[in-house]
Amino acid sequence: METVIQVQHLKKHFGDLQVLNDIDFEINKGEVVTIIGSSGSGKSTLLRCINLLEIPDGGNILYKGTDILSGKLPLTTYRSKVGMVFQSFNLFANKTVLENCMIGQIKVLKRSKEEAQKIAMQHLEEVGMQNFADASSTRLSGGQKQRVAIARALCMDPEVLLFDEPTSALDPEMVGDVLEVMQTLAKEGLTMAIVTHEMQFAKDVSDRVIFMDKGVIAEEGTPQQIFEKPQHQRTKQFLSRYF
Ligand code: ADP
Ligand code: MG
Repeated sequence: METVIQVQHLKKHFGDLQVLNDIDFEINKGEVVTIIGSSGSGKSTLLRCINLLEIPDGGNILYKGTDILSGKLPLTTYRSKVGMVFQSFNLFANKTVLENCMIGQIKVLKRSKEEAQKIAMQHLEEVGMQNFADASSTRLSGGQKQRVAIARALCMDPEVLLFDEPTSALDPEMVGDVLEVMQTLAKEGLTMAIVTHEMQFAKDVSDRVIFMDKGVIAEEGTPQQIFEKPQHQRTKQFLSRYF
């Protein structure tokens, strides 16, 4: 199996707080890895380190074997390969849906306008947002914004997509639409790492589940192992809030 992302002995602190303490894990091609755990356990910091939005204090992050902290891979190239979808969508507010999906393709991938538009429309269709191509992104609902953010990330032909609580900011009736899109992407074989509090979704969609607790991976396994036979007290405690 090809490893896309390999995290080795990752460490990160903010002031006195050790937020990530010797994290080791990998994301293999075609895999869906979900990351669960209490608020403050370091899940966002882990994804942000992988996407170099935070610089780790120690350890290595390898992208297909290349150390991304070595400076050998240009940051924009790396970020197009390792896309991120945020809780807060982060769309360009003064641009249309279509423009949001085209700009990275033109600027980073150097695609022509025509090609970028064609690819953008394909991915907007994939997330059910093709009819909103000319709408201003500010006029969309949260669920629609998140689907556009996913389409925008897909336009960059990512090797892996990182999702940080993609449905946490949504009204309950919109959560299902976004999870459905993600489920389809999982079935199509997209490599994904997903931080989520949607436990039923994590159970259904994951190949592997990572439970983080206070900056360490406390337990890791298949959805069956983690959700049905958790080994650690902290995992059991955490899951008892959901099931
Ligand atoms: P999670 O996503 O699991 O809720 P985070 O990775 O966001 O956890 O945060 C882990 C801890 O690190 C929290 O205690 C948080 O307050 C702290 N933290 C996160 N980012 C920063 C920052 N930029 N500066 C200081 N502390 C931070
Ligand atoms: Mg978080």
